Amino acid sequence: MALSSELKKQLKNRFSDRVRFDEPMAHHTAFRVGGPADVFITVTEEIELIYLMQWVKENNLAYYILGGGTNLLVQDQGIRGVVIYMAKALAKISHYGEIILSAMAGASLSTLCRFAIHHGLSGMNFALGIPGTVGGAIRMNAGAWKGEISDVLESIRVLRPDGSIESMDKKSLIFTYRSVSSRSGSSVAENNKDLSSSVILEGRFLLSQQRPEVLQAEADEMLKARKKSQPAGLASAGCFFKNPDNSESAGKLIDLAGCKGLRVGNAAVSEKHANFIINQGQASAEDILRLMHKVQETVLRKFNIMLEPEVKIVGN
Ligand SMILES: Cc1cc2nc3c(=O)[nH]c(=O)nc-3n(C[C@H](O)[C@H](O)[C@H](O)COP(=O)(O)OP(=O)(O)OC[C@H]3O[C@@H](n4cnc5c(N)ncnc54)[C@H](O)[C@@H]3O)c2cc1C
Repeated sequence: MALSSELKKQLKNRFSDRVRFDEPMAHHTAFRVGGPADVFITVTEEIELIYLMQWVKENNLAYYILGGGTNLLVQDQGIRGVVIYMAKALAKISHYGEIILSAMAGASLSTLCRFAIHHGLSGMNFALGIPGTVGGAIRMNAGAWKGEISDVLESIRVLRPDGSIESMDKKSLIFTYRSVSSRSGSSVAENNKDLSSSVILEGRFLLSQQRPEVLQAEADEMLKARKKSQPAGLASAGCFFKNPDNSESAGKLIDLAGCKGLRVGNAAVSEKHANFIINQGQASAEDILRLMHKVQETVLRKFNIMLEPEVKIVGN
């Protein structure tokens, strides 16, 4: 999409050097792949987000909310429209009453976990070591070690595409495996409430009290186990496929199907954890997608199970 010079000027005036054009998404994803986003804006205040949502609507442009980019496979042609980058800013974490923490969407999930330990609050340790932001973790209902965000989330505050802000408590949300949606219907008014087009601004978490040293000991164990089972320091998006219902884990199926070490170009199935696809250097999104299809076909042939990607495939 060629953005007119007038529209570019409007964005420059408002966001100065926080707006970039044709920004390589490979710089903003844990997979380190992805072509250019037409427009890439780092937002630092809620008021800017409200302006931006109205601006994209008025100009009939598409938008995409980016957290830490740790669960994304952005395709090689990149993203048409405006990428709204939430990480790093909008990151305040606060303690309410005795057992409630509130975190802005741009806060790092690991920072929230460490904050909880420091304040003697139990419940967040499952999420230690999951990279990315609080907003991304809520959107993905991120989880590990049999815990997930829905276990501790009490409410969220969201910005709707029409610029309105709304609080939603847990009862109005439907959590499923690596996803959350709102209990809304199909009318136009209700579509505006569709969570997939809204920006999560903040989450409130209901925890319980525990001594920080007990929490820290548990955290150390969990991080050790994660380090042992997952390839560290390599470009990936974590587990690539969802675990299928009523079956072995996706990693086990991929391993049993003999796919460990399988490669396409510079993308490879990890030898350490079969559900991790690794970018070994200059892999393209196309390499990763072709490898994904190879793994899916092999597992389907062997076990008659079609693995679904957990990673979000974005752009074109
Ligand atoms: C090494 C590694 C290990 C991982 N381990 C785990 C694990 O154990 N468990 C697990 O569940 N995941 C894991 N992941 C995947 C990933 O870290 C999580 O899904 C994480 O919660 C994504 O957060 P993010 O901020 O990076 O979101 P992104 O990847 O940026 O985005 C993910 C989705 O959330 C949406 N989104 C992001 N922010 C917002 C917002 N503020 N409002 C609305 N929508 C938003 C995006 O549009 C996108 O649809 C791992 C990834 C890596 C690289």
